[in-house]
Amino acid sequence: MIFSPLPGKPVINQGFGQNPEAYAPFGFAGHEGIDFGVPVGTTVYAPHDGVATVKNDGATGYGLHVVIDDGKRRSCLAHLSEISVTSGQQVYQGDPICKSGQSGNAHGPHLHWTFKILKNGVVQNKDNGFGGAVDVTEFTRLWLDQDLHHDGEYTDDAKPYLAMNFSANQYLKNPNRGVA
Ligand SMILES: [Zn+2]
Repeated sequence: MIFSPLPGKPVINQGFGQNPEAYAPFGFAGHEGIDFGVPVGTTVYAPHDGVATVKNDGATGYGLHVVIDDGKRRSCLAHLSEISVTSGQQVYQGDPICKSGQSGNAHGPHLHWTFKILKNGVVQNKDNGFGGAVDVTEFTRLWLDQDLHHDGEYTDDAKPYLAMNFSANQYLKNPNRGVA
């Protein structure tokens, strides 16, 4: 189980798999993650445990981004303005790890989240059209009584996202999160 990297009711302005034409040049069948429309400087929390790797694409690609990997799960949180963990650092689900931004190839401030499933450290289903990225909404739950699918606020562009099927609602408490 993984948590949303953002508490509250995040606005989703691009769902997984959307806009295939825009992602064809990158070799993807569509958007390879979820975009949350949040202001620059919004605190982002680790969606699951793992070891952090800090990367910076400069003005291109994901810009300043952090990868969290525990050998079974890998999250990439991208277009950041600030990262408060260092490469090699163990982080725990719910830890505040970075702040959102609009670095790299970003049209505006948002948080991009890519999630991949690994087996023995190897990304699975790399030929799925998204480089192995999968739609996390199937098994993401927001904190406390918040659910990404049921409580998220969607822009019109992201509405098709709602047509996807989800497993039964399930709520979790975040063991690590302090006061937001
Ligand atoms: Zn994105």
